[in-house]
Amino acid sequence: MSKKEIDNRFSKFGTVSFTGITRINDFIGYLEQGKLMGTKCKKCGIHYFPPRADCSHSLDSDMEWFEVQGAGKLLSFSTLTFAPTGFTQDLPYTIAVLDYGDYKVFGRVDKAVAENDLAVGMAMKAVVQQLPNEHITYVFQKA
Ligand SMILES: [Zn+2]
Repeated sequence: MSKKEIDNRFSKFGTVSFTGITRINDFIGYLEQGKLMGTKCKKCGIHYFPPRADCSHSLDSDMEWFEVQGAGKLLSFSTLTFAPTGFTQDLPYTIAVLDYGDYKVFGRVDKAVAENDLAVGMAMKAVVQQLPNEHITYVFQKA
């Protein structure tokens, strides 16, 4: 196998920018299996989402994957009416942060959920969603 072969699975991840993340293309592989994953430092136990290849606390690279499961608490949300080029066709959409205790997950709220139904503190869960053109993402739904 050529060393120049480029792992381009991240190009399938359509709607949330994970620019700057390296060595974690397995994230997309897991999404394709319907799993939303973060990473956890084996040494100090810190959870990272989006996943990181290195722990910013202990500077360790000994990380393991964990699955984002169950419900988190809606910490904050905001409906966007402006977006970078390439994302404007999706407008408007609502971004949100869920608090899972050990970590927080940033993402979009499912379009099927009305903004009026959202309230800080409510329980929501992340669900992997297949998009057109073989893109894949995850959205938040009511838990
Ligand atoms: Zn660490």
